[in-house]
Amino acid sequence: MISIKEYIAPKSIEEAYNLLVSNKGCTLIGGGAFLRMGAKSISLAIDLSKAGLSYVEEKEETFEIGAMTTFGDIERHKGLNKVFNNLLARSVGDIVGVQLRNLVTVGGTVYSRYGFSDPITALLVLETDVKLYKQGIIPLRDFLIKGSKERDILEAIIIKKTGRIASFQSMRNSKGDYAILNLALSMKDGSYSIAVGARPNRGILATKTMDFLKGKELSKEVLTEATDIIAEEIIFGSNTRGSEAYRRQICKVLLKRALEEVKGYDNKSED
Ligand SMILES: Cc1cc2nc3c(=O)[nH]c(=O)nc-3n(C[C@H](O)[C@H](O)[C@H](O)COP(=O)(O)OP(=O)(O)OC[C@H]3O[C@@H](n4cnc5c(N)ncnc54)[C@H](O)[C@@H]3O)c2cc1C
Repeated sequence: MISIKEYIAPKSIEEAYNLLVSNKGCTLIGGGAFLRMGAKSISLAIDLSKAGLSYVEEKEETFEIGAMTTFGDIERHKGLNKVFNNLLARSVGDIVGVQLRNLVTVGGTVYSRYGFSDPITALLVLETDVKLYKQGIIPLRDFLIKGSKERDILEAIIIKKTGRIASFQSMRNSKGDYAILNLALSMKDGSYSIAVGARPNRGILATKTMDFLKGKELSKEVLTEATDIIAEEIIFGSNTRGSEAYRRQICKVLLKRALEEVKGYDNKSED
């Protein structure tokens, strides 16, 4: 159980940031779902729910998704549903149940860089930037590797509308459990972006597999070779959900499914 000594819900991100940097023992609260599972003693809880960060803004070239947007909001957003073959909604759709997804936030997920995260894997195969209140805009790929240099607040994520076709695949024992492995893939003009997460470590790009696939026809032989390359290049680990060897085999299957799916979309778009 967590305990909270003092609670504030600031009306702006500026106010929240000033509180954050002026008090070492304070904690930001997004949806609060993950924090609640721990046993933290919080001297000052800064609840971001009133700071105007719950929005999805569709612009001409981008989607900007505010940090307090929930997974449920993403699933139901008509504009997001129309792009990347509904990749984002698909990446969160198997997480526990509707009630939890209506609580957990984009900001709490991305800033914390959880290894088990499903949406982070999906965001990695898109051109995604992270907008931090103090440090500004950083590519998600860099943020995932380096993290935040100082205490900061994730304000939004920004996704470029690139017209990529995409697929999300995951393997889990049940809806209430974390994925044993997840994989996202996007493609445009024969150029692929592939990410693997819940390895169980943080999501990473499969760069050798991406290079191999570039410009290739997806024949049976190419698919087989690509699955061998990805199984070789990605570092997997073992935990209670699955062994390293099991994850390696699952990864091959997930990549094959994703490639077959985008191949189907690509064929349709040429009709
Ligand atoms: C039972 C359960 C099962 C889950 N299963 C899955 C799963 O299968 N797949 C999956 O991908 N995810 C899963 N999640 C995780 C969930 O998707 C969220 O990633 C997680 O709950 C964090 O979101 P939150 O809004 O609850 O964050 P909180 O619990 O509010 O915060 C988490 C951390 O992020 C910090 N934080 C919050 N917002 C910000 C911000 N804007 N800027 C900076 N720091 C911030 C907080 O201070 C805290 O340290 C699960 C969560 C739960 C509770």
